[in-house]
Amino acid sequence: MCAGCSGNSTDNGINGGAVRHRPASSPYQSVTDYLSNVNNFKIIESTLREGEQFANAFFDTQTKVAIAQALDSFGVDYIELTSPVASEKSFKDCQLICSLGLKAKILTHVRCNMEDAKAAVATGVDGVDLVIGTSSFLREFSHGKSMEYIQKTAIEVIEYLKGEGVEVRFSSEDSFRSDLVDLLSLYKAVDAAGVQRVGIADTVGGATPRMVYDLVRTLRGVVHCDIETHFHDDTGCAVANAHAALEAGATHIDTSVLGIGERNGITPLGALMARMVVTAPEYVKSKYKLRELKALEVLVADAVQIVRRAELFLFVLLFSPLSQNIPFNNPVTGFCAFTHKAGIHAKAILNNPSTYEIINPEDFGLSRYVSISSRITGWNAVKSRVDQLGLEMTDDQVKEVTAKIKQLADIRPLAIDDTDSILRSFHAEQVEGVMARL
Ligand SMILES: [Zn+2]
Repeated sequence: MCAGCSGNSTDNGINGGAVRHRPASSPYQSVTDYLSNVNNFKIIESTLREGEQFANAFFDTQTKVAIAQALDSFGVDYIELTSPVASEKSFKDCQLICSLGLKAKILTHVRCNMEDAKAAVATGVDGVDLVIGTSSFLREFSHGKSMEYIQKTAIEVIEYLKGEGVEVRFSSEDSFRSDLVDLLSLYKAVDAAGVQRVGIADTVGGATPRMVYDLVRTLRGVVHCDIETHFHDDTGCAVANAHAALEAGATHIDTSVLGIGERNGITPLGALMARMVVTAPEYVKSKYKLRELKALEVLVADAVQIVRRAELFLFVLLFSPLSQNIPFNNPVTGFCAFTHKAGIHAKAILNNPSTYEIINPEDFGLSRYVSISSRITGWNAVKSRVDQLGLEMTDDQVKEVTAKIKQLADIRPLAIDDTDSILRSFHAEQVEGVMARL
């Protein structure tokens, strides 16, 4: 269906190669040292917790179960659920998902108090994610608790949860606007109390990769336990921050499908996969079923009705009928993620896809599309489509028909069907011409 979908595998970097034509020496190498976890990280998938905070989200029980099963099949390490104290239904859904026997560990996310912790344990979860605001903003304008009170309560709750045999994570909220000395002494205390993980949360989405790197690196020197990170995307840094956190020694990244969450959400699972399949291809491809990403995103996108106008273009409906709710520029699964349009790009892509693709669409069960229906197309791309359609033409003929396509595309938008018709009728004219001369 796609012009130029190429099986060209003469290039070692295309089909399963570890590195997609990275030069031997480049200033853009990932930072890797003995603390970096870019080759060894875990995903805490929070579509069913953070994602429930997305403005459009309403997950009924059946949808929650379907999403949990799809996430489990994809291979996420943990699935985080809404607090059981949020509502009666939340409690029951939490119990139900715990009883499904999934490979992923089930977590729930609760406030750091004994009542919430007991409700969490009663649902049968594998682990409890405790959270409390530590920034001066939250201490003054939200819960009003002092750092001394926060630490004392945290230790009591952690000891209770440890006694119940569940995993414990302790996270501050709004970590990047908390006092560093307060934060580190609190984490040191909860680490000594035996938590499995401490969490850093950029709750307002204001952190940059440099800030993340510095804070995680500092924290890595203070605690022995794992470090989980949670990044909101208000300033567009959520994926970059996750990568920086792993480089600095974080072990766990919170994600949600398509990034849905409070306001404009958190690190998207698919975008993180796109980032990490480039940084750590063997690890990511062996651990996660990348070919299931698109179906997972469609499931969630349809459940919350993420609609973008750009998705209404005719060729989207032709080429990707299941993705109307996935944003057009979504990494990997957006309709133009592997679409090549400019003539100069198309020529190179047809010769060797890694010239203009950092990710191999085949790793995700997808294919590339070389657009030939525009004024900026080139004759190499058109020739590829001519070959796909089984039409015999000389290079001069392809150049002639390319000129016709460009002429028409200067006047109005063309769909792929229009271009195919031009190619077929041009070919028929050529054949008729030859017949007439015989
Ligand atoms: Zn959040």
